[in-house]
Amino acid sequence: MDYLPQQNRILKGDDIPAEERISAEGKRVVILGGGDTGADCLGTALRQGAETVHQVELLPRPPDDRNENNPWPVWPTIFRTSAAHEEGGGREYSILTKSFSGENGVLKRLHAVRLEWGAPHETGRPSMIEVEGSEFEIETDLVLLAMGFLGPEQPGLLTNLGIAFAPRGNVNTDATRMTNVPGVFSAGDMARGQSLVVWAIAEGRDVAHHVDKYLRGATDLPPVPGGVIV
Ligand SMILES: Cc1cc2nc3c(=O)[nH]c(=O)nc-3n(C[C@H](O)[C@H](O)[C@H](O)COP(=O)(O)OP(=O)(O)OC[C@H]3O[C@@H](n4cnc5c(N)ncnc54)[C@H](O)[C@@H]3O)c2cc1C
Repeated sequence: MDYLPQQNRILKGDDIPAEERISAEGKRVVILGGGDTGADCLGTALRQGAETVHQVELLPRPPDDRNENNPWPVWPTIFRTSAAHEEGGGREYSILTKSFSGENGVLKRLHAVRLEWGAPHETGRPSMIEVEGSEFEIETDLVLLAMGFLGPEQPGLLTNLGIAFAPRGNVNTDATRMTNVPGVFSAGDMARGQSLVVWAIAEGRDVAHHVDKYLRGATDLPPVPGGVIV
């Protein structure tokens, strides 16, 4: 969030003070995180003139076709190549970053180990096994963290209000998108978890319907349950 919005502001014509500028130009870039945000970082770094770009992911490489436990019509968890990936750079999977090192306060290396993913343990998630002797280093000048949104920031506004959370840390709401605190509603990433702009728009419209109804007892705004205008 330091890197990508800044590039958008530059493209819009904003002047960014040199000391705040984060540029990949001429640098050996490592992106931690194999998701869409990582792909955005990869495309941006390449276009800024990075010397090399590697996108590193903790999880294994997804299969080219659906697994048996990933049938239609659920979203296919398969290996995807975005427009950014077509522009260059490399992708590596099943890698755990252990530490960084450098000289005189300047980053020089990333230290990592390769992983094997074993049988699921009691949480249902596969177990992560570090491969003995597989430690390695990547020479790097710029590391971009694109490791995902873990949920809304709980301490502060949310905990002060006494808001209840769902098991994965998102704000819990009822069918009217109201939280456990009467008159406090939630929608979008905060309630759903990391997602897409289309969901944020649909849920924003839906929560407007419920807020209006809560305040006035009636509303002309259409509900958008499940993202579909009814
Ligand atoms: C790097 C990145 C790339 C993405 N790329 C895509 C993409 O290509 N396509 C796509 O569909 N989605 C993409 N997403 C996801 C998408 O941005 C989100 O799903 C969407 O923005 C969620 O909308 P929202 O309104 O729920 O939350 P947000 O857009 O996060 O809006 C929440 C707003 O609340 C403000 N806020 C926070 N705390 C307070 C407070 N106490 N008081 C007042 N305001 C506050 C924040 O400043 C922010 O403006 C991307 C996300 C990231 C991080």
